[in-house]
Amino acid sequence: MKIVLLGTSSAVPTLTRGLSSTALIREGDVFLFDCGEGTQVQLMRAGVRRSRIHSIFIGHLHGDHLYGIIGLLSTLHLDGREAPLNVFGPEGLRVFLNAAFRTSDLQFAFRLTIREFPRGYRGRVLDEEEFYVDALPLDHSIFCLGWRFQEKAKPGVFNLEKAEELGIPSGPLYGKLQHGENITLADGHVITPDMVLGAPRPGKSVVYCLDTQFSERSIELADKCTALIHETTFGTDAAEMARERKHSTMEDAARVAREAAAENLIATHFSSRYDGRQLARHANAFA
Ligand SMILES: [Zn+2]
Ligand SMILES: [Zn+2]
Repeated sequence: MKIVLLGTSSAVPTLTRGLSSTALIREGDVFLFDCGEGTQVQLMRAGVRRSRIHSIFIGHLHGDHLYGIIGLLSTLHLDGREAPLNVFGPEGLRVFLNAAFRTSDLQFAFRLTIREFPRGYRGRVLDEEEFYVDALPLDHSIFCLGWRFQEKAKPGVFNLEKAEELGIPSGPLYGKLQHGENITLADGHVITPDMVLGAPRPGKSVVYCLDTQFSERSIELADKCTALIHETTFGTDAAEMARERKHSTMEDAARVAREAAAENLIATHFSSRYDGRQLARHANAFA
């Protein structure tokens, strides 16, 4: 999996930072988390193919996370897209989108599925063969969902030598064992998958927590994840402002990552009051 930060600025864009959006690329499919203004330009700059967008997840309805979606959808329509597209987000998203579609007489040839979640929602929003996506509410000034993209565990490595040793004829029986089924050999011996498979290989996970102040729920969502993408609007110099506006400091994000035992922390959503050098200083303090 590859993570591309398309926009890392909070509230307003700067000359060097776009508004919130992050692409997660897995097996060629693109999963877009938030879609601030300018996201479609950033996708082109980063070489992320918009035609491969599988789903868009909007965590909350503040403009800096949302206002780019209409332009992007309009472009997908002009591209002649045929593949279906999912858009997930909190209650109110459908009203916002439909108002724009109606006003601009925008009708799609592809199937656009909008799924809204009520305030306080927690649960599985997408469940596919190789991965799933869970959501739970964060702690922001308006209802905001955090997302966990989780690859399902893959079966352990098949031990060919062991299989031959046990006298299993190669062919479809191998496949059955790899799919977790017991098999019976011609001589009546029963072979269970654990006799030829290594330990299951855990899937990777990416957790997206924007926008939120420090919350135990972020820790729950990020439990032992491969990568935690967490907002860090402010440095410790503005901790009070962070609390007032229900945002996080670099220290809050580091605490969530530590308590959740996340393998990696990716900081984003920086206030325009900080330049690149100041951000690096804040980040280094918690590295
Ligand atoms: Zn924001
Ligand atoms: Zn916000």
